[in-house]
Amino acid sequence: MQGPVLPGLMMNTQLTIKGILNAAVHNFPDQEIVTRLVEGGMFRYSFADAAKRFQQLANVLVRLGVKRGDRVGVMGWNTHRQLELYYALGCMGAVCHTINPRLGPENANYVINHADDKFIFYDLTFAPLVEALAPNLQNVRGYVAMTDKANAPKKSPIKPLIYEELMAKEKDQYDWPDLDENEACSMCYTSGTTGQPKGVLYSHRAVVLQALVTCLPASFGCTNADAILPVVPMFHVNAWNVPYAALLVGAKLVMPGPQLDGKSLYDLIEAEDVTYSLGVPTVWLSLLDYVNDNGKTFTKMKYTLVGGAALSEAIIRGFEAHGVHVRQGWGMTELSPTGTVNAEDPGFYDLPMEERIPIQLLQGRALPFIDMRIVSDDGKVLPWDGESDGHLQVRGPYVISDYYKADKPTLTKDGWFDTGDVAVIHPDGRMQITDRAKDVIKSGGEWISTLDIENSALLHPAVSQAAAIGVPHPKWQERPLLIVALKQGKTAEPEEIRQFVCGKLPKISCPDAVEIIDEIPIGATGKVLKTELRKMFKDYVLPEFRNGGKAKDSAGAKKGLLGSLFGKKS
Ligand code: AMP
Repeated sequence: MQGPVLPGLMMNTQLTIKGILNAAVHNFPDQEIVTRLVEGGMFRYSFADAAKRFQQLANVLVRLGVKRGDRVGVMGWNTHRQLELYYALGCMGAVCHTINPRLGPENANYVINHADDKFIFYDLTFAPLVEALAPNLQNVRGYVAMTDKANAPKKSPIKPLIYEELMAKEKDQYDWPDLDENEACSMCYTSGTTGQPKGVLYSHRAVVLQALVTCLPASFGCTNADAILPVVPMFHVNAWNVPYAALLVGAKLVMPGPQLDGKSLYDLIEAEDVTYSLGVPTVWLSLLDYVNDNGKTFTKMKYTLVGGAALSEAIIRGFEAHGVHVRQGWGMTELSPTGTVNAEDPGFYDLPMEERIPIQLLQGRALPFIDMRIVSDDGKVLPWDGESDGHLQVRGPYVISDYYKADKPTLTKDGWFDTGDVAVIHPDGRMQITDRAKDVIKSGGEWISTLDIENSALLHPAVSQAAAIGVPHPKWQERPLLIVALKQGKTAEPEEIRQFVCGKLPKISCPDAVEIIDEIPIGATGKVLKTELRKMFKDYVLPEFRNGGKAKDSAGAKKGLLGSLFGKKS
């Protein structure tokens, strides 16, 4: 198609966080932000008052010498003070680097130095960690304890400034600059389960676009009728962008602070009339246990968005029993973070539960502006046929282009980001993660989804956590070993669990063995640490090879014939 380009005649005003803040203050000045404080008690203020505090904090930051483009680290719980850092730093043109305190000292040290943070703001809970890190932090000029005078640490080697004391000295007006939408506003490192954590630097444009698509009805679908509780931490990819999305649409924002156990979450949900909550699967299992063990139910909560790891049938059934619908989202630190959401088609809730669950277990359709494709090991783009399994690659305006200070290209040669996940895409556009590429079990030339095995195991009444890994097998290359932890006070035999799981899976996926351990290791963002499990089970011998014998038939891989192993159902 030839011809001169005809530019549109529209203003080129920039998509920046200031725009989100303006929408919040102009349209919903009286809407509330509520925090359960680290020091105990509750704090609440309106969007209008929050906006004043954002300006006060910008004045604090300027006085501390923070300049445009500077990175400032924050190690904190979900609170209004961390929210203030999100907005003040972003709107003044600096960068809010949220640090995951569960990264471990070595990684925390690495990310602070790599990001070149100028100051570290921290909640009192993390004082021992920050104090231990301080001697090795090269360019940090000072520390700010996010508390008030009454709760200030009496003695600390890092001599922190006190957040509320700094705030009290400043005026609550600040003239936000006009920024370019491509400037950075926030930063988050990947959890670094393999190798060093990698820095992802979000632009204003990416955050604004992600906030917009997050609010769409077929996405998180939140409105100003909602009270939203992000249980997902603010150090996990900007709490999935909820602190921006809630202010944009005028939803009440409820911050849980440090108390994330089942009872505390339940009490907060009920006291603050929470209608919508978001978090990783592990957190919901403990909430559901509390609700069920104590004969409670939810009065206002309508929706829960589960992401960060695969949603299980047990969670869907657990919430549905209390009238709460569950949506699944898939995303990554590198995607700002949400890439797909599995929203319901019209009439979905008229279907019987048995038909709904297999649909709900899919990761969902791409959010607007995200392109997805699946690619085979040899680089062929695969069809969206619901069967072809391939490496999931994405591109779009809120997908990473390069890791911070990357020493090698982040994208494929043709400009896609390889997610490291393996997926199937169904003809209706719904994507289904079958595994992480490095976790998938390769057995007799087929790929076995560990997610399917884990989902089935979690349906066993005694199982609280489940993880499947591949163990070497001379004939099949790898076979699944299922590792589980049991619910408190429950007992079960490994073989009984194995039989239960195999009854729900195609024969090829039936684990060859089940091992019960006290606790499954969980990483910094609530995901099972398969690297740790692989270390724990590195010398594992499948039952069929024990007693020094040659390969004998085992319970799981009986008869040793491809035909038998690859049969549809056991
Ligand atoms: P992170 O960058 O720490 O948020 O981790 C991103 C990874 O978490 C993805 O690449 C997936 O492997 C996994 N993940 C996130 N959401 C889901 C989901 N809904 N189902 C399965 N895996 C998920």
